[in-house]
Amino acid sequence: MSTQANRVMALSEWDDRWQEGRTGFHKPQVHELLKNNLDKVVGGRKGIRFFFPLCGKAVDMKWLADMGHTVVGVEFAVKGIKQFFEEQNLTYSEELVPEIPGAKVFKSTDAKISIYQCDLYKFSSAIAGKFGGIWDRGALVAINPCDRQKYASLLISLMESDCKYLLDTLEYNPELYKGPPFLVTEGDVKDLFGVACDIELLQTVDGFEERHRSWGIDSLTEKLYFLTPKTQ
Ligand code: SAH
Repeated sequence: MSTQANRVMALSEWDDRWQEGRTGFHKPQVHELLKNNLDKVVGGRKGIRFFFPLCGKAVDMKWLADMGHTVVGVEFAVKGIKQFFEEQNLTYSEELVPEIPGAKVFKSTDAKISIYQCDLYKFSSAIAGKFGGIWDRGALVAINPCDRQKYASLLISLMESDCKYLLDTLEYNPELYKGPPFLVTEGDVKDLFGVACDIELLQTVDGFEERHRSWGIDSLTEKLYFLTPKTQ
């Protein structure tokens, strides 16, 4: 385990980031790696139900919905959820989720996008079924390293048998920056998902951006994996 293993970020700290506008992780354009690999994740299917763990206000949700897919996201920060609908010019409703005390679901009026406002670990397939696609960007890399096993079990439990899961990870020197986002290695991906899923490394790209200099690093690699449930 790396030097980051014991770092814990509380949900309230994420809320603070949203309140203070410290959301440098947000991308105003559709993510290139999702765009490049859309055909692979869709695999000829129509009207896929996509899951976005820790969705933030990812514009990718609207992009997929506009193509006829439906999207379910989970995000703790109310501010992020409201900004998503407002910035995408989508009207939405807000309802309590009876199965999860304190949680709400925000739904676009056309019902194509639903975002559950709760701690991810309270979510399960009992709430919104299973999914045919998963876009994991800023999610596995953002959760506390001590929760990875729990996270992987949850994500695996949300996969339909034909699910295609795109997992975006970051690699950089963890001695230099404490995270989040945290380092996730190929070994980590295999350890977490290898028993349940076939794993293919699809793309390795230079993910370094100027904003990363403030983390004290000068290189960062982004890796995209394609996970599918092992056939029994
Ligand atoms: N995937 C988005 C956001 C990445 S940042 C993107 O790529 O832009 C990680 C997000 O996860 C933050 O918005 C944070 O508020 C949310 N988050 C962190 N831990 C969470 C948890 N346990 N449950 C739900 N949301 C969480």
